[in-house]
Amino acid sequence: MQDLRLFSKLQRLLLIDARRPEDKWLAPDEKAKRQAIKQALRQAKQERFRATLPLSPELLETMFDFVDQQLAQNECDNTFKYLLHFLSEHQIEANPVVHWLENLGGYCDCEILANVEARFLEDFPTPTL
Ligand SMILES: [Zn+2]
Repeated sequence: MQDLRLFSKLQRLLLIDARRPEDKWLAPDEKAKRQAIKQALRQAKQERFRATLPLSPELLETMFDFVDQQLAQNECDNTFKYLLHFLSEHQIEANPVVHWLENLGGYCDCEILANVEARFLEDFPTPTL
């Protein structure tokens, strides 16, 4: 009886688990399994974020750098002044980019850097240029 043998084997395993529950958490394969799950979740999150990008990561990085350089010399006037300057210079339609930025809490040039660039760097930590 294959099933019975399997059943008693499972029962033994369950008993071992019940007697020494801490072993379950310390088992190296369990640790590896959890790490793999974490890694997969991270990757899925990154892919979801990547799919929302209105421009290529390289162009977004150039955009953040441009706004950053402008705000190093000028105050933010609570508008998208430098962002819009950048977009028109690159002949990029503003609406999808602005919509994406606002979704991530960027409602003016300085918030782009504070909120959106910070979020962007979580998934694109190394310079892509
Ligand atoms: Zn601002």
